[in-house]
Amino acid sequence: MALAAVCPRRARPRRDRSNLVTVARDERGVTPQSEDFSAWYNELVLKAELVDRGPVRGTMVIRPYGYRIWELLQSELDRRIKETGHQNAYFPLLIPQSYLEREAEHVEGFAPELAVVTHAGGKQLEEPLIIRPTSETVIGEFMAKWISSHRDLPMLLNQWANVVRWELRPRLLLRTTEFLWQEGHTAHADEADAMRETMLALQEIYAPTVRGLAAIPVIEGEKTPGERFAGAVSTFTIEAMMRDGRALQSGTSHYMGTNFARSFDIQYTGEDGQLRYAYTTSWGLSTRLIGGVIMTHGDDKGLVLPPRLAPYQVVIVPIGRGDQAAEVTEAASALAGRLVAAGIRTHMDDRPQLSPGFKFNEWELRGVPIRLELGPRDLAAGSAVMALRLGGAKEPIGLDGAPARLADELDAFQDFLFDRATAFRDEHTVTTDDWADFVVAVATGWARALHCGMQDCEDEIKAATGATARCIPLDGEPASGPCIRCGRPSAYGKRVIFGRAY
Ligand SMILES: [Zn+2]
Repeated sequence: MALAAVCPRRARPRRDRSNLVTVARDERGVTPQSEDFSAWYNELVLKAELVDRGPVRGTMVIRPYGYRIWELLQSELDRRIKETGHQNAYFPLLIPQSYLEREAEHVEGFAPELAVVTHAGGKQLEEPLIIRPTSETVIGEFMAKWISSHRDLPMLLNQWANVVRWELRPRLLLRTTEFLWQEGHTAHADEADAMRETMLALQEIYAPTVRGLAAIPVIEGEKTPGERFAGAVSTFTIEAMMRDGRALQSGTSHYMGTNFARSFDIQYTGEDGQLRYAYTTSWGLSTRLIGGVIMTHGDDKGLVLPPRLAPYQVVIVPIGRGDQAAEVTEAASALAGRLVAAGIRTHMDDRPQLSPGFKFNEWELRGVPIRLELGPRDLAAGSAVMALRLGGAKEPIGLDGAPARLADELDAFQDFLFDRATAFRDEHTVTTDDWADFVVAVATGWARALHCGMQDCEDEIKAATGATARCIPLDGEPASGPCIRCGRPSAYGKRVIFGRAY
């Protein structure tokens, strides 16, 4: 069971339906997405050289190609985080167990996922240490130390770090025992300011980054009580739809009220001299979003990377043999230099031992938005052949105007992916008041339905269909009526999005 979750390929040999014999496919190819979405994903993340499996079950190695995607995402997030007044800091990986125990709901929520250090320096420790699953507790401890007056507020911190949450059913990039993320932690004088911050992280940092760079049309919404972060008063989310119709929670922002301030004694003296508890927030976005990019845009042939997140936006493949090889390679190299100078991330694939066809397949599998082929005849004509990763035949483009033309093509490709994902999401979202329709809808996508807001009813829906309440969309139209499942009066004043989720 455990092994099957980590190694689905070994556990489930693929069969060719025509003759029922196990097929040895081309080393570089993957199971088509349309045939088996899960096998497609598991094979692709490895074959595209994004990640590898770590030595400890559930851990992953992020390879350079995958890490570059993370860096591109990270730099845009970091820019927005700083631009909105936050400062980066770093807190220790090891957290005293007693810290987690101070917030009862928090420790209860995280207990099953904790990795605990009991021995160090050759001895048993007096107090076990927790490898951080998130840093509210340790940061709370220091906020209490650093905040004394209203003049110290708001305190706006962010940390880039790794965290560990023991995963029973790990999945590369989507659910790994250790992952990378940023966690924002802020403290405020009052509820209104803390609530503004919670929405700022969601709407001015996360949503525009994920839409703009990852080309994923996320829905902003609030979590139902059962789906809230452990210890939060309210949790907000951006939810994305993958190409198998499942939802991926892609970033969350939590309003804590004074829950953590009371547990960690984060108090300040107001202008009137009164001692008050601060209001805190936290918000996080992780490497799991890379899994979201793969499952939002990829196809049977492999990855499709949005240009703004692609390690290589353009790959040039020089094609020439014998005497012509040197001349073509030199011209390709000069072209690459001009594209790089124009700000286009460009790679020249001049590996001599591999055929052009092999290279085309490889860069297609690895999701490069634009491939340029340059042969002696193209060179003589002053052009190169452009092939887009999606939609469109090969087309010659002039070498002189190549940087401007390719910049335009990359922008158009970015927009195309966003529009395509939006259309897919909308085609797979059904607004319904009928239980039978609801069941059909969540089998292939999302349903927008009225819900009573009761946990037992959410649990029943999950047991019956596998679907959970993803969010109450912020921009949802006012709506009320009987609950889709139990018929009790609806809560929230609008429809809830339900779907199966990663
Ligand atoms: Zn109900």
